[in-house]
Formats: sequence, structure tokens, C-alpha cells
Amino acid sequence: MRRCEVAVIGLGLMGAAALDALLRAGVDAVGFDPLEPGSSRGSSHGSCRVFRRFNFENPHYTALSDEALYGWDRLAVESGRQLLIPCPILEAGPPGSETVRQSRQAALDHGRDTPLLSGAQVNARFPAFALPDDWDAVVQDGGAILLTQVALEALRARGRAEGRIRTVAVTGLEPGGDHVLVRTAEDSWRAERVILAAGPWMDRFLPALAPVLTVTRQSVGWFAPTRPKSTALGAFPIFIIERGRDDTVYGFPDFEGRGVKAAPHNHGPVVDADAWEPPASDAELAQVSRFLTELIPGAAGPITERDVCLYTNTRPSAEDAGEEFIIDRWPGSRLVVGSACSGHGAKFAPAIGERLARLATDPGFEIEPFFRLSRYPAFA
Ligand SMILES: Cc1cc2nc3c(=O)[nH]c(=O)nc-3n(C[C@H](O)[C@H](O)[C@H](O)COP(=O)(O)OP(=O)(O)OC[C@H]3O[C@@H](n4cnc5c(N)ncnc54)[C@H](O)[C@@H]3O)c2cc1C
Repeated sequence: MRRCEVAVIGLGLMGAAALDALLRAGVDAVGFDPLEPGSSRGSSHGSCRVFRRFNFENPHYTALSDEALYGWDRLAVESGRQLLIPCPILEAGPPGSETVRQSRQAALDHGRDTPLLSGAQVNARFPAFALPDDWDAVVQDGGAILLTQVALEALRARGRAEGRIRTVAVTGLEPGGDHVLVRTAEDSWRAERVILAAGPWMDRFLPALAPVLTVTRQSVGWFAPTRPKSTALGAFPIFIIERGRDDTVYGFPDFEGRGVKAAPHNHGPVVDADAWEPPASDAELAQVSRFLTELIPGAAGPITERDVCLYTNTRPSAEDAGEEFIIDRWPGSRLVVGSACSGHGAKFAPAIGERLARLATDPGFEIEPFFRLSRYPAFA
């Protein structure tokens, strides 16, 4: 029987960030994950994610973005690798767009009065775009392309160097009085606390979470630019465009020479975490192709590459409309739960990792109310 103070189950971006925070603090921690960075399962794979400083989803998130940015910068220095490529963030929608309004408000709350732009002004600044002239838009600074694959490798580097990563699946958890028994096919560990960061597999460990989480299949495509100069980094922003309900597309400049990565942000079909296969089909990417043709013609060439990734979304609670995170202690246990996807968690990973580590090691630490399980009646 092996022992550790904290076992971290799942080393995607959230678990890897938690393990890194624990090891940095000198905690005797071990992380478990059968997948290596680069595997195409779960939620953290692929080369990039959007880092936004000003978040339209929730006014609390700007402070979290700022905290995470500090973490990413520290990790970049420690690893000697670039993790963020600065890039403006364009958010746009029909007149009166809530996304644009909330994004501007998030900036205003932090002392930035970001001007409201028209579609015509966006098209003049970014020639790949053809937004309707009367649309609302905002271009935020403080954004970046988060290089996810590099970030995941960097977040796991300390654990790897210190021999604290087990590339194996956890097959069972058994609560004991003063410990949790963590079983794998190879051995068993007696852990004082366990952080569960299993992404779309969370309900395998905690079936009671299933009613508040849905896992959806999200298709991603890379599109050959029709006007390559207009979609290059520097000439083209990260964009999030909400044309209407269930019609939001986001994307990146062609910073890798692979084309413009673009994907729908509205939810794909509900799936089991294991019962799906890539690639994304033409039908799944048809909405994005149409969207680009109509609104971003400079990026609307043929599909060059495809991917599928999973969102783990929270359902609406007593206090929010859903698509938020759960970061909390599991009641009456030695478990800590870190479910931070809903399609926008990656950017926060260092800040969320710190919270998971503190929940596991500091009995006096209380998580912010908007992350708590108790916002769901079943856990109140
Ligand atoms: C298409 C897509 C686009 C996104 N875009 C953005 C974006 O632009 N900006 C942003 O901030 N966020 C974005 N996100 C969200 C972000 O990627 C997620 O918030 C993040 O990846 C969640 O990481 P995770 O560690 O919780 O889950 P995962 O990465 O899924 O990690 C869970 C890990 O648990 C492991 N595991 C499962 N079962 C076991 C077991 N039995 N034993 C041991 N380990 C186990 C798995 O192998 C896996 O590695 C996007 C997500 C997707 C899918």
C-alpha cells in the first residue's frame, strides 16, 4: 500500500494545474491519468484555446482571468516556453447584442471604457470580415491565444520531473475513516484527500453529479483562408460572433499555417464520455461553413482539418443560468471536485488549480459562492 497526502485524479488542464500547485507548495501529491498530453480524448487537447480577460459570461471572471494570467506568466518563465500569443478579441452580434453589452460591462467594471463599434467599423479594421454594417461589436485587448498542448505539458512538467505522475486509470475509490483508498490496475494508494478532475468522466466517480452535468460533442474545423493575408495573426482577431440563439461561432487567426480554426459554441449532441469518435462530419461543420461564407468571407475556404472535443456543461442552478463551473468539496467526504469546462474553463486553469489545491489542503479555505455545489438543491 502506497501513501500520499493528496491524489489528483485526471491530469487534463484542471488536474494538472492542481497537481502543479500542490507540488509547488511542497505537498506530497500524486497525479493519475491514463492519457498523455496530445491524446485526442477529453476536453483539453488541441493546440489552442481563447484567453479572454473580459468575460461576458459572469462579472466574477475578470479577476479570475487576471489571477490565471499571473499563473500562465509564471509557468512560461519556469518552462521557458511561450504559452500565450497576445491577440485582440472581437465580439459581435446583431444590434443590442447581449454578448457585446456584457463584455463591455466586464471591462467597464475594471476601469476600461471599451468603445461600442459598428459592423462597418470592424470590417474596415479587419478586412476578412463582412459583418452587417449596423451590428454591435467590441474589440477587447488583454486577450491571447492560449497554446493548450504546450500549457498541458508545462503544467505536468514538475510532476513528471519529481516522479509524481502515474500514467494509469483509477479504477476505484473507497472511503476510509481518515483516508481514501485509490485503486488502479497496478497498485493502491492511501490518500488523505482526493481531487477529482476527471472532466467528462466525472460521473463515473460521482454518479450523483450526473443530473447537473451534460457532456456534449463539439466539432471543430480548420478552414483554408480565401484571402490569406487578411486572416494572418496581426490582421485578424480571435472572434466570438453571436448571430442569434444557438448560432454562435468562435475562431482564431491562422497562426499555425493550418487555416482559420472555427467552431460552434452552441452545444452539440449529448454523448457519453467514451461513446463517440472523431472526425467532425461535413454536416456538423455546415453551420460554421455557412457562417464564415456570410460573415467572414476571407476565411471561408474548404475545410482542411477537423477535430472533436467534449464540453462538460453545468445545468442552470438556483443562482445561475448554467454553463458555469463546480469547484468545491464533496459533502461528507475527503473528495474535492473540479469540473471547470462549459466550453470556457481552459484560460482559468492556473487559478482553478490553486483553488483545488487549497480546498484539499487548507480546511479554512472557502471557495467563492458561484462555484459551490450548494447552488443546486440536491446539495443545498
Ligand atoms: C472544443 C472546445 C473548445 C474550447 N474552447 C475554450 C476556449 O476557447 N477557452 C477556454 O478557456 N476554454 C475552452 N474550452 C474549455 C476547456 O478546454 C476546458 O475547460 C478544459 O479543457 C477542461 O479540462 P479538464 O481538466 O476539466 O478536463 P479534461 O481535459 O477532459 O481532463 C480530464 C482528465 O481526466 C482523466 N481521467 C478520466 N477518467 C480517469 C480515471 N478513471 N483515472 C484517471 N484519470 C482519468 C482523463 O484521461 C482526462 O485527461 C474548450 C473546450 C472544448 C472541448
